[in-house]
Amino acid sequence: MGNTTYNYGNCETCDTPLEEQYIKQDFWIRGELIIIDHILAGVCPKCGEKIVNAETGQYIDELLKNNEYIISAPRISVPIIMFDEFKKRYDISNERSAYID
Ligand SMILES: [Zn+2]
Repeated sequence: MGNTTYNYGNCETCDTPLEEQYIKQDFWIRGELIIIDHILAGVCPKCGEKIVNAETGQYIDELLKNNEYIISAPRISVPIIMFDEFKKRYDISNERSAYID
């Protein structure tokens, strides 16, 4: 994707060559959910593992410490769901879950 500027090497988990692409990443900082969009990262096409280079990592650290910048950023609202409430309302205990046994 585009001209590669950094060699991310292979995935530490599954040894697949990482591909450079822009990602969105979420962080929980002081109890607040923050999403950083358009981060250039190495992404594993097989297992989804993501890494950034050292410089990008440093910029992310700086950004997450910069309260003033974060406060001035646009906001989105996201659903937050109480899982227990969902389970009570949509009882599937008579079916077998395909994901969790
Ligand atoms: Zn992988």
